[in-house]
Amino acid sequence: ALGSLAASKAKEVESKWSGTSTSGGTTKNFVNGAFVDSKADRWIDVPDPVTQTVLSKVPETSEAEFNQAVKNAEEAFPAWAATSILGRQQIMFRLQALLRDHMDDIANSIVLEQGKTFADAKGDVLRGLQVAEVACGITSTMLDQRIEVSKDMDTHTRRQPLGVTAAICPFNFPAMIPLWTLPMATVTGNTLILKPSERVPGASMIIAELAQRAGLPKGVFNVVNGSFDTVNRICDHPAIKAISFVGSDKAGSHIYHRGTANGKRVQSNMGAKNHAVIMPDANKNLALNSIAGAAFGAAGQRCMALSVAVLVGEAQSMLPDLIERAKALKVGSGFDEGADLGPLISPQAREKVIRLTKSVEEQGGKILLDGTGYQSQDYPNGNFVGPSIVEVKKGMDAYEQEIFGPTLNVIRADTLDEAIEIINSNRYGNGTAIFTTNGSTARAFETRVNVGQIGVNAAIPVPLPFFSWSGSKASVLGQSPSFYGQHALSFFTTTKTITSLWRADDATDTKASVAMPT
Ligand code: NAD
Repeated sequence: ALGSLAASKAKEVESKWSGTSTSGGTTKNFVNGAFVDSKADRWIDVPDPVTQTVLSKVPETSEAEFNQAVKNAEEAFPAWAATSILGRQQIMFRLQALLRDHMDDIANSIVLEQGKTFADAKGDVLRGLQVAEVACGITSTMLDQRIEVSKDMDTHTRRQPLGVTAAICPFNFPAMIPLWTLPMATVTGNTLILKPSERVPGASMIIAELAQRAGLPKGVFNVVNGSFDTVNRICDHPAIKAISFVGSDKAGSHIYHRGTANGKRVQSNMGAKNHAVIMPDANKNLALNSIAGAAFGAAGQRCMALSVAVLVGEAQSMLPDLIERAKALKVGSGFDEGADLGPLISPQAREKVIRLTKSVEEQGGKILLDGTGYQSQDYPNGNFVGPSIVEVKKGMDAYEQEIFGPTLNVIRADTLDEAIEIINSNRYGNGTAIFTTNGSTARAFETRVNVGQIGVNAAIPVPLPFFSWSGSKASVLGQSPSFYGQHALSFFTTTKTITSLWRADDATDTKASVAMPT
């Protein structure tokens, strides 16, 4: 059974939100403005990561149900695309207000299904809400270009929506990542089919109800649950014009190749190995607290987690204090007062973290802090591990693979050049950070490091949504514009460039010119 606090939160979530289940029932789909029970013949359990109690079952939506959802989204498209930009903006105003009002309910659902702490879950919702807030500025951000080319001739651009679009989401940000897509895809005039992670459907179902209350017309936003089969249907359906994917390398590569082979736009954000460089002149408390927070927060299950600390020169003397910071963190249920990190998403994820952490010693590295044996007295079945710190070298499994758990790699370097070399030779390019009190050092790092998102004395430098996501190298596939901000406007629209000649006087020439117009 669930812990008593979790049980009361579960009851509250289920009784208030139509599409959800937290008592072993079934999660619905949200199609054409209604919450519908799937007739799927395959169902996937959603277990509580703290107790393994089954909270819900998610349907592997059948092909017929999926096709019907796409048909509804196709039918809803013309009227929605023709709705004035002010009309779409009004709905976005209401959606952002509703998301803010119901932030705690969404956060409770996240803690129940995903396991992160309540404070962290609220951050998850807030970072998504901010995308909806920025989408409200669509009347300024969608302004197009126009120029008077010559006497009587103007050229202007028009950005028009694509049609039916789709989003495929990971488990680690159950609210933020669906909200990277929903506001931007719909405010630009598209309709959207969203597939949440089958491990955390609840937040998306609550968001669907809020979108409905905000006045998004039926068929504009749809949530279709499932796993691999549903993903493949999204990749193959000819009416779906674009796919926004966030998740692992394996799924991202599959979806990118299958979707683009079918002529779709695909944006794929994938795995990461984010390095933090600590220079000897760093402000020690700022650096150590930031790194411990970003390595172990959310039990290391963030794509922008700092999973490698590169200690340069005398900064290596900070290592014992870094270990103390890690030891001071409390493991527990996300609802526990004072818990810093919750469980991993699944027993398999826990086994992977333990295996990669232990492999360090077998491969010649050192385990400086071993959290793999952590046992919870209160929740013996939880997917818990404690914080670990391991000293590694390039080539070791724990360094080369994304651990996606609370195990921090440590690498020693003699100089900033060596630290930059280590980072630039890593295949991923999601995020990195430097801790220093020297502006020149920071500037050199920012110029030379080949990573898309850089923090200077700031961990987890996820761009706020008036910028766009800018992960690079193997953390993304393809050259598509990225997520949210201006990039999302490009991703979700197609540009037409119109050149018009409106003469103020009548044409008097009688001979056609056959030369290329210039
Ligand atoms: P995942 O790839 O297992 O799942 C993501 C989605 O893809 C889910 O909806 C799932 O149903 C589907 N999927 C998974 N495997 C599939 C397959 N073989 N065929 C078809 N569909 C498949 O990822 P996850 O475990 O939910 O999320 C964690 C991963 O996401 C980590 O690698 C993390 O770095 C990454 N992530 C990246 C970013 C980013 O912006 N770069 C952000 C968050 C998470």
